Amino acid sequence: MLRTKEAYHEKLFAMRPNIFIGGERVGRDDPRLRPGINVLDITFDLAQDPEWKKLATAASSVTGEEINRWAHLPQNPYDLIQKQKLIRLGARRAGGCIQRCMGHDAINALAICTKEMDLANGSDYHQRFLDYLKVYHGQDLDGCCAQTDSKGDRMKRPSEQQDPDAYLHIVEERKDGIVVSGFKMSITQAPYADEIIALPTRALGEADRDFAVAFAVPADIEGLSLITRPVWLRDKDNPEAGPFCRYGVSDCIVFFNKVFVPKERVFMCGEWQFGRRLALLFADSHRHSYSGCKPAVSDILCGAAALAAEANNVAKASHIKEKLSEFAGAAELAYAAGIAAAIYGEKTASGVFFPNEIYANVGRRLTGETIYHEYNLLTEIAGGIAVTMPFSGDFEQGENKEALERFIVRNPNLSPEASRKIWQFVENVGASSMASWYKIAGVHGGGSPIMETIALNIGYDFEDKKSVARYLAGISESLDDSRMRDMEPYASEND
Ligand SMILES: Cc1cc2nc3c(=O)[nH]c(=O)nc-3n(C[C@H](O)[C@H](O)[C@H](O)COP(=O)(O)OP(=O)(O)OC[C@H]3O[C@@H](n4cnc5c(N)ncnc54)[C@H](O)[C@@H]3O)c2cc1C
Repeated sequence: MLRTKEAYHEKLFAMRPNIFIGGERVGRDDPRLRPGINVLDITFDLAQDPEWKKLATAASSVTGEEINRWAHLPQNPYDLIQKQKLIRLGARRAGGCIQRCMGHDAINALAICTKEMDLANGSDYHQRFLDYLKVYHGQDLDGCCAQTDSKGDRMKRPSEQQDPDAYLHIVEERKDGIVVSGFKMSITQAPYADEIIALPTRALGEADRDFAVAFAVPADIEGLSLITRPVWLRDKDNPEAGPFCRYGVSDCIVFFNKVFVPKERVFMCGEWQFGRRLALLFADSHRHSYSGCKPAVSDILCGAAALAAEANNVAKASHIKEKLSEFAGAAELAYAAGIAAAIYGEKTASGVFFPNEIYANVGRRLTGETIYHEYNLLTEIAGGIAVTMPFSGDFEQGENKEALERFIVRNPNLSPEASRKIWQFVENVGASSMASWYKIAGVHGGGSPIMETIALNIGYDFEDKKSVARYLAGISESLDDSRMRDMEPYASEND
């Protein structure tokens, strides 16, 4: 089933008001949440749009129904490449984060891990999860992913924390479900999601058994508070401002205070041996999603920088051309890593097709490394106006309107209006609250850079590289080519 954005709003605005902003309890119709809801609207609109329907929808592997691709479990490399392309398409429209990939990555991780737990332990989590997914597909639900725990003292394990709520944990196990408590943090789009999908954030030991918990709950369930930090742009309500100003985001502390989760929605309950696996399945899937969204952020920064160069009439200068080419490298190398991750991915026991971890991690690491540099390129090209420009009102009315129309023109081929729009866009993209959000999300979203280093240190075949060096150095007589033989793109006659 495909919902329209109007149907999404109707359900959203009827939810229990468990959102808190600045000490006040507010409804989901609070105007500060609207910029984020506008982003989600794009994801519903694309699925209705005849031009993009093929990309934005898929046939459910669970029910066969037409569903939004954000709820689809990828079955082959094509599905992963389509996801990546959809993210880039949506993110270019939203001016950045499209916000639905976390839910997508969470359901993938659960589909794979529940199957693996069942194979190891004889449990029945996978069927339970598929039953839940039928509802998710049937109602075209949107889930956010609550993985990151508040974590308290970083040097202590979950079970060693002074406050057990530093990590989400099981408080009570009943026949009909579990009771959970704890803080998840930095959870994007939780206040306008239908569902919260909770997963463990790290590897767990036996003593951490109660912290091995995964489930999905409605975002307004009793006992749940969403302490919300919305981000919006100053001109969000200005009809003269461009579409970029309409969009924003909200992140939450998700506080579970003795929340009851019915058994049919519990997908991990004490299987601490699988904590690491489930955490990494989400993280690696999410790192692959970055190979779609981060190129879009580079597209936007590159476009803003090119327009700034035009407005300053310096577009022909060689240093500008060199700087612009760096955006091309950042965007397309990350995108290429995503395609490689799809082609060299693997079919898991669940039937879900999973991206290759090495390519997903090198792509994500590259994007984290380049993000501040890309903002710096924009700043260098644009000059200081991004943080010193008067507010829109001064250009639209008052005594200085005419003077400012002259002031704003640098390139005589551009009108005062076009010049002003370029510089306001540069400010919004490069020097606003949203810009700071993108910089920090670019570093830490999907896991801090050290997490990609750890993943590569575990997964990358350094012995293979040593064997090449040994052969070329004349230490060993033959070259072991087994790694090159193993590097086959995924191909199946069924897909
Ligand atoms: C904009 C934004 C949106 C996000 N959205 C989501 C979301 O939707 N869902 C979600 O689940 N998460 C989300 N996150 C959270 C994100 O995954 C985390 O920020 C990331 O995993 C890092 O965790 P942290 O912020 O707690 O930083 P920390 O873990 O505190 O890391 C800070 C630094 O401390 C170091 N460090 C931490 N622990 C140790 C240790 N034991 N030993 C040595 N060094 C250590 C790290 O390497 C890092 O350098 C979001 C984050 C951001 C910024």
